[in-house]
Amino acid sequence: MTISGNMLIGQQAVSGQQAEIHAVNPATGETLSPAYAGGSKAEVEKACALAEAAFDAYRETSLEDRATFLESIASEIEAIGDQLTERGVAETGLPEARLQGERGRTCGQLRLFASVVRAGEWLDVRVDPALPEREPMPRVDLRQRHIALGPVAVFGASNFPLAFSVAGGDTASALAAGCPVVVKGHSAHPGTSELVGRAIQRAVKACGLPEGTFSLLFGSGREIGQALVADPRIQAVGFTGSRSGGTALMATAQARPQPIPVYAEMSSINPVFLLPEALKARGDKIAEGFAASLSMGAGQFCTNPGLVIAIEGPELDAFVAAAGEAVKGSAAQTMLTPGIHDAYEQGVNRLAGHAKVTEAARGQAGETAHPAQAGLFVTQAEAFLNDPALQEEVFGSTSLVIACADVQEVRRVAAELEGQLTITLQMDDGDLDTARQLLPTLERKAGRILANGWPTGVEVCHAMVHGGPYPATSDSRTTSVGSAAIFRFLRPVCYQALPTGLLPEALKDANPLGVSRLVDGKREV
Ligand code: NAP
Repeated sequence: MTISGNMLIGQQAVSGQQAEIHAVNPATGETLSPAYAGGSKAEVEKACALAEAAFDAYRETSLEDRATFLESIASEIEAIGDQLTERGVAETGLPEARLQGERGRTCGQLRLFASVVRAGEWLDVRVDPALPEREPMPRVDLRQRHIALGPVAVFGASNFPLAFSVAGGDTASALAAGCPVVVKGHSAHPGTSELVGRAIQRAVKACGLPEGTFSLLFGSGREIGQALVADPRIQAVGFTGSRSGGTALMATAQARPQPIPVYAEMSSINPVFLLPEALKARGDKIAEGFAASLSMGAGQFCTNPGLVIAIEGPELDAFVAAAGEAVKGSAAQTMLTPGIHDAYEQGVNRLAGHAKVTEAARGQAGETAHPAQAGLFVTQAEAFLNDPALQEEVFGSTSLVIACADVQEVRRVAAELEGQLTITLQMDDGDLDTARQLLPTLERKAGRILANGWPTGVEVCHAMVHGGPYPATSDSRTTSVGSAAIFRFLRPVCYQALPTGLLPEALKDANPLGVSRLVDGKREV
């Protein structure tokens, strides 16, 4: 398939007029064709007008038609074949196998949402029948269902060019909820974005849906990204990226005459607590697993373990030595973009230059254009507690070990943590009491708590929470991975005393959709 360098607005391919974006192969520094001329407010206006025009028809598509549409996007993505993963490798420097795995995850997640749509539980149907005889006051008939919020703006993430990008989790969950989507493609992988965008465009056409169900724009975040979030027709935002980008979009969304929710996933250092018995019994094994998790994908995961917390002593020294050896042996990997590489270098230099931080190990230096040299640093709890800057995310394969005097200090560190996507406990049976005391604090800090695993690798399923208090995300009540992500783009509507002829299908007495309902407080499956 030819990659044209165009934006996709409804069924049209549209050429931008603003500054050109060129993808750069981060491994070689080579500029990739074609150029993508950036869009302007005119294209934002056109995409949003089409999305608004599509909304009422799209949100009332039958459960079956909407599920078929999501499956058809997955099939269209698969039909692109090797061109998609080859372009993805060239634009991101990620290995081919990773891109293949990510394509599987992207299509799997679209199919998961298709099954969720068909099941209809997300409609959350509640029926409280009228009680005309009730004393002292009769009750009228009240029925509730969830409806789609409206057109959604999605910002593609740099670090998952497929699974968190144009047809990633945000888009899949918004489309599943019944919301048209306007994507602002990430400037680092426009070719990959266009290929996936065209697959969605074909699925829209094949399923006979209104063309405004999906559009893809390119251009500067500060211009078209901001214009998109400010557009009155956009009703919610999905974002993955930097804390500064996410908070800027939150501010824009809040400053609108009608403020809207922003679901931004921004920064997390994913603390790992090494509890004393586990550290004593199997510090070497833990060090091995930690180093593998730290260096996976050049550390460019939102769940990368950037902080390790343990009680000081010979066991912790042995852990640092073993993890340090593994880090020293880890090969440098190409980072996603020159900008992300620069930010990583600055973060590592900040740690290396900190008066209270010691360098334990550095990985191998790389020969490609933008290599991530892994790093392991150590500091004392007191220094960490006195300097909030030591909590800042260093996006890449670098971690900081916090040595605590005793278990009370471990708890003080836990209490001072910012919001996180994940917190991991490495623990044995003898650590249960310590873990039990920590748990209430950890629940307040993170969206996912793990025991004896590693936070990298996020299962796409029904129970997953990929979220957490700020700055991990802008709204800790939700998740951006897994089927519960659909609830970000829905809201409840109550229908009071509506005649049957006016009620939505989902709420009719005969339950024609066959969905699970709460009738007068009792679950009917
Ligand atoms: P980013 O700079 O936040 O960019 C993400 C998207 O948001 C891009 O499309 C960008 O547009 C847009 N954007 C950025 N600032 C904006 C603003 N003020 N207003 C409107 N739109 C804006 O993130 P990135 O490029 O992916 O990586 C930069 C850093 O983000 C990394 O070094 C890392 O620290 C962090 N990051 C964190 C995670 C995580 O999951 N925790 C994931 C990825 C990145 P442009 O096309 O104009 O750039």
